Amino acid sequence: MDKIRGAAYGSENLPVFAEADVVVCGCGPGGIGAALMSAASGASTVVLEAYGLPGGMAAISEVHPFMLSIHDGKSLDAPVYESWRKTMCRYLPENMMENLANKHDYSLRSINKEAAALAAEDLLLDAGVKILYHHSVAGVRKDGSRISEVICHTKGGFGVVRGKCFVDCTGNGDLAAMAGCPFETGNAQGGCQPMSLCFKLSHVDIPFVTNPQTGARLIDPNWKEKLSACYCAAKQAGIIDCPRENILVFPFQLADENVLHFNTTRVTGFDATNGASFSEAEIEGRRQLRELVSWLKRELPEFRNARLMSMAVQIGVRESRRIMGHYKLVMDDFVRCARFDDAIARSSYHVDIHSPNGEGTYFQTLPSGEFYEIPYRCVVPLGCDNLTVGGRPISADVEVHSSLRIMPTAVSIGQAAGLGAALAAQRGIPAIAVPGREVRDILIVRGAHLED
Ligand SMILES: Cc1cc2nc3c(=O)[nH]c(=O)nc-3n(C[C@H](O)[C@H](O)[C@H](O)COP(=O)(O)OP(=O)(O)OC[C@H]3O[C@@H](n4cnc5c(N)ncnc54)[C@H](O)[C@@H]3O)c2cc1C
Repeated sequence: MDKIRGAAYGSENLPVFAEADVVVCGCGPGGIGAALMSAASGASTVVLEAYGLPGGMAAISEVHPFMLSIHDGKSLDAPVYESWRKTMCRYLPENMMENLANKHDYSLRSINKEAAALAAEDLLLDAGVKILYHHSVAGVRKDGSRISEVICHTKGGFGVVRGKCFVDCTGNGDLAAMAGCPFETGNAQGGCQPMSLCFKLSHVDIPFVTNPQTGARLIDPNWKEKLSACYCAAKQAGIIDCPRENILVFPFQLADENVLHFNTTRVTGFDATNGASFSEAEIEGRRQLRELVSWLKRELPEFRNARLMSMAVQIGVRESRRIMGHYKLVMDDFVRCARFDDAIARSSYHVDIHSPNGEGTYFQTLPSGEFYEIPYRCVVPLGCDNLTVGGRPISADVEVHSSLRIMPTAVSIGQAAGLGAALAAQRGIPAIAVPGREVRDILIVRGAHLED
């Protein structure tokens, strides 16, 4: 018997918008990885995206730059992340996105949200993926332990998309939750990392220095310190009301050299999986933006002529649900740099937890030159046979989640989830019955850096 979960619809006879072997829900970094790898496996693939462009946080939330997960000077994330990054070069100045070895020169990994979206769309269209923008997944119909179709909300009303296997790449585990899969949220107190509204100011008088060893062009660290000291004083004086402990900025040298990217707003205590709370978070993010920008222009000479160049369409969400899967990656795995027979991704990025309550950002690094692995079982949720999860909400504890959430790793997790789904659909078997070792071997053949 079909069971409807999620929104209530009134009609059982909804139009069929599309049908495919694999239905990828959400087209951020995870969804791009999933859709491209599914299509590369010969599975007919449709991707559903709530917004009108692909890229997720990189496009709609203006997240910049790509954090690095490298080993021996080489990105750990291939092949989809590498193709995405390289395709972005079509829309970027020369040399941008090239210098992966130079860890601290963020300006060389400037993510332009337009380039991120255009490049992703180029790749998806070339691969023959059917893209349905402005299709929000609002519910699922289940037949026993399988999803038979997802229900989408569109401008034209509700309709269904049918598939043999589904991949949840919504960033928040929406589909898995709708399908009744168990999940966890937040830390021991239930607190999730804060959301942040990213924005850019142009016409800033940025003092740059060149690192003599690496040649990297950096914002003068003394100036950054001074900036944060002024910010802390303004907080103390009650002029600024933002929980973040300092000003987090990155250079963004695409349009001209005087653009600063701000990842400074910190919006705590809201829930990205609750409509009203999420809406309130947007308003609070923009309140912080207004306050910060007017204070900078008023008080700091370097910002006197600053202009608000762009602002994220949607507040960025770092954390919400984490799906419970057939394996849960925990901090002990991170600390021991775990290896798995069914490893489908690797990361050398540190634990990076922005405090859910207020000030503070917690870091824990891996031993130098090390990485940990993520097994296939983490992308297969409990409670549903034909579903995998790509991107950040996979089965991991809150600490490891804070490491694997970066965009390059999210793409790699997505590509494995897409491959697992394609194989499950083609063989008519549950996703967990696809041997993880085989997923790993196929990924290696296709260019993933997972060799022993
Ligand atoms: C403020 C902030 C700063 C960050 N800084 C960095 C950084 O500097 N470097 C870095 O590498 N990473 C950074 N990250 C982390 C990174 O951006 C995310 O963890 C990553 O984008 C996760 O990818 P994803 O595909 O899982 O989810 P997302 O990027 O969130 O993509 C999910 C996609 O699914 C769509 N979607 C959601 N729900 C539905 C639905 N119901 N139906 C249809 N579509 C849906 C969304 O519109 C979106 O396009 C940052 C994150 C935030 C929030």
